[in-house]
Amino acid sequence: MKTFDVVIVGAGLAGLQCAKLLSRRGAKILLVDRKTDLTRGVHTTGIFVRKTLEDFDFPAGTLGKAVKNVTLYSPKLKTINLTSEKDEFRVGKMGLIYDELLNDSVANGVRFARATSYKGAEIGNGESVVKLEKKGESYSVKTKVLIGADGANSRVAKELRLDENKEWIVGYEEVFHCSHSSREPRLHCFLDAKLSPGYLAWIADDGEEIHVGVGGYAAEFNPREALKEFKLKTKEIVDLKDLDLAETRGGRIPVGGVLRRIANENGLLIGDAAGAVSPLTAGGLDPALRLSKFASEIVWERLETGNPKVLLNYSGELFRARFVSRLWMRRIIKTFTNQKLLELGFTFLRGKIGGKFAKHVFFGRGSFPDVELRQSARRVEII
Ligand SMILES: Cc1cc2nc3c(=O)[nH]c(=O)nc-3n(C[C@H](O)[C@H](O)[C@H](O)COP(=O)(O)OP(=O)(O)OC[C@H]3O[C@@H](n4cnc5c(N)ncnc54)[C@H](O)[C@@H]3O)c2cc1C
Repeated sequence: MKTFDVVIVGAGLAGLQCAKLLSRRGAKILLVDRKTDLTRGVHTTGIFVRKTLEDFDFPAGTLGKAVKNVTLYSPKLKTINLTSEKDEFRVGKMGLIYDELLNDSVANGVRFARATSYKGAEIGNGESVVKLEKKGESYSVKTKVLIGADGANSRVAKELRLDENKEWIVGYEEVFHCSHSSREPRLHCFLDAKLSPGYLAWIADDGEEIHVGVGGYAAEFNPREALKEFKLKTKEIVDLKDLDLAETRGGRIPVGGVLRRIANENGLLIGDAAGAVSPLTAGGLDPALRLSKFASEIVWERLETGNPKVLLNYSGELFRARFVSRLWMRRIIKTFTNQKLLELGFTFLRGKIGGKFAKHVFFGRGSFPDVELRQSARRVEII
């Protein structure tokens, strides 16, 4: 049976970032994904916020044009226009980003098992047997560390007996390509209790791609029907008539905040599997990059010291305090269940205090907290 230092299940942004960083240090890694082609079945719109763009390098050609303008719409399509002096967002060309990260990892020795499903694991004491399946054929590998980067509904979390996401919204969008647009890049966000219950509907238009999507609590709406209705509602705002539909994207987005127990001596969780998504904005790309960086440092320390207990320093408690206010805001947003209430909320956002709040949500230089390894050093000693 082949043996690896680390098996990472899931080659989304979280798994790829972790594989890239750990492979640079020399870990022997198997990266597994059930997809044959990572550029298909993408789970995200790909909007990166300013702080992520400042703190991480993106290969040339993998980001769309900068977006400085946001228009917020009420259910009756009243508007608030917000403009920033800075480049606030860019829509990532996710297929290219995934491919670049994968090439980087493979060049550093990562073995990539594509079209391979994770089927379970026998969790041992500091060494686990991971069961995989490719084209109906099962095989197993051994690993010192098992990493769950397998998304919001993580099977790895279950088998490692770690915390699991309990609250999520679903997002569903269509992506259109438009090569020669002279429109100014703009993010349009729509409040609508029927079409996006508990969240937003959006049109992200950076002049190269237009993403039209809806998000909300699954029990409250039918995303496909809502998207149809949303396109009708907004046909005067962005004209999709002559554009080709390039792809559809969708999936669960955990909004319950970072989970508490995200590691034990046998492995850990990153990205959506760890609940690392802002409960307010539902942004998970910045958290995926930052948490994976921290995870790679902890895992490397575990490999270097040979002490599986080092992994216990990787705890959701290190991050949860930063999410308290966002979790409260999510609870409040959930109570805006009808259009009248939302229209009223929108009137507040048009005022001075509400306007400041809206600017803070869209243009605040927020990010997932960065945790240095030394911040957890005290705990390492205790362990
Ligand atoms: C419609 C939508 C739009 C979004 N837009 C934004 C946005 O604009 N900005 C933002 O910041 N956040 C956004 N988010 C959230 C963000 O996309 C996610 O938080 C982020 O992509 C999570 O990355 P991940 O690597 O953890 O998970 P994923 O990208 O979901 O990757 C998980 C991987 O695991 C693989 N996998 C799962 N189970 C198995 C198994 N058993 N065996 C093998 N492989 C397996 C899957 O194939 C997949 O490749 C959006 C989410 C959705 C659903």
